[in-house]
Amino acid sequence: MSINRKIPTPEEIEKEFQEFVQQKYGGSVRLINASANEPSPEGEAEAPEPKQTFDLKFDLKPKEIKQYLDRYVIKQDEAKKALAIAVCDHYNHVRECHEDPTAADADYSKQNIVMLGPTGVGKTYLIRHIAKLIGVPFVKADATRFSETGYVGANVDDLIRELVTQAEDNLELAQYGIIYLDEADKIATPPNIIGRDVSGRGVQIGLLKLMEETEVDLRSGNDVASQMRAAMEFQKSGKVEKEVINTRHILFIISGAFTGMADIIKKRMHQSKIGFNAEIISQTDDTETQYFENITPKDFIDFGFEPEFIGRLPVHVVCTELGVEDLFYILKHSEGSIIRQYENAFRAYGITVLFSECGLQRIAEKAIAQKTGARALMTVCEKVLRDYKFELPSTGVEEFVVTAEVVDAPDVELKRITAEPDYNRRTVMCEQVRRYEAQFYTEHQLQIQFDAEATALICERALAEAQTVQQVCDQLLGSYQHGLNLIKQNTGQSTFTFPQAVLENPDQVLEAWIRESYTTKR
Ligand code: ADP
Repeated sequence: MSINRKIPTPEEIEKEFQEFVQQKYGGSVRLINASANEPSPEGEAEAPEPKQTFDLKFDLKPKEIKQYLDRYVIKQDEAKKALAIAVCDHYNHVRECHEDPTAADADYSKQNIVMLGPTGVGKTYLIRHIAKLIGVPFVKADATRFSETGYVGANVDDLIRELVTQAEDNLELAQYGIIYLDEADKIATPPNIIGRDVSGRGVQIGLLKLMEETEVDLRSGNDVASQMRAAMEFQKSGKVEKEVINTRHILFIISGAFTGMADIIKKRMHQSKIGFNAEIISQTDDTETQYFENITPKDFIDFGFEPEFIGRLPVHVVCTELGVEDLFYILKHSEGSIIRQYENAFRAYGITVLFSECGLQRIAEKAIAQKTGARALMTVCEKVLRDYKFELPSTGVEEFVVTAEVVDAPDVELKRITAEPDYNRRTVMCEQVRRYEAQFYTEHQLQIQFDAEATALICERALAEAQTVQQVCDQLLGSYQHGLNLIKQNTGQSTFTFPQAVLENPDQVLEAWIRESYTTKR
């Protein structure tokens, strides 16, 4: 019996091989066509040729960087300053070397950075924004991912290859990138621990090599795709051209919570009679970050870092814990606030979501309890609003408010919002009154507040007269702005609570207030 088996064409073999590679390594590995120089069949993407040139124009000043960061990152002022200075020093030096390679200063030590601080306080966020502002590629990885040999975990050299990917194969741009290693405290190897973890030390040595200066071959390590590309190139031309990245100008930032470091610093400061801040030591309710501000290279060594490794990280930046008010501020004011994401997500279904101040406050309070900094804001919002995102697009609800009640009992409120249109309408109107008050403050620097009865009455009136809250309030307070300013001039008062009477007899109430202000004039 003869086996009539068709011999596959080269294209079929390639297809099968491609499927095999895809199955084994996932989407991250590509098979590059062996006949790379031949025109590729129509519709098939050619492997991008590495671009080699990049014109680095860095002309930022530290203050400009800080101002930019202020738009997105709340607090961390000292960290922003230290980062802005380090980044400017680094990229000014890089620019000088770029413009005149002979000008390289042998004495210059690179401004690699260690960032200390609890989780979710903006460490990564700061660096991500810096990289974006400067226009250089950014790679973030957890230090725990690496092993000494790269046999079990990844190899530190892979970070450089990832930079190239981030730089869209522009090799020169990749050489000016930023590598950010989180959880770096996990690669410390405390000397007093029995059976100490030597692999952490190995990773430190590997990183040290990168931080100093080395050339990383892009065609080695775990990068199967590039190895195959090299093999095919070799087959075709008999040689493989080297693709290397020099790490001299890559900025390295390592970060972590460094749990236990505060005790090391505390101990050192207690032992030493000079050179420490006695005030801090005497405090009993001290925080970790207060100690971090006094950190020295010796503390890092005692923590378990190699002296040479820590010697290559001269800039120490401390990020402090965020409080409830900070989380509230992040939600309400920061440019990248997740609230905008929710507003956009609901707007896509024609739904307006209004986050009330009390709602935001409750979200911040719930988030702080999770002890993961601003990270928890997303977790809380997702939990609270998931069913709203699922249910509301299929209802007639066009507007709703995230009140404190919604945050506390999302299910109960969701039922009311969908089942009781009148309840929902009034809640929305109440929130509009709050926003009118805020707008009044922005325009006139006068803090007004309608009390509960007055607010309810505004809503009634708007409903009865088929007007908007804004219209009702405008009519009501037409003459108030001048009157209130007069009172402010007389007494210095700038906060006013409006009772129901303001709605019933606005002119009379204002006149009485003004008359009284003359009697209590400053
Ligand atoms: P970590 O300090 O652990 O690196 P991240 O920087 O990754 O934390 O913060 C997680 C998220 O929390 C950020 O993407 C950002 O949305 C938010 N966030 C954290 N800190 C701040 C801050 N100080 N100001 C504004 N948003 C922040």
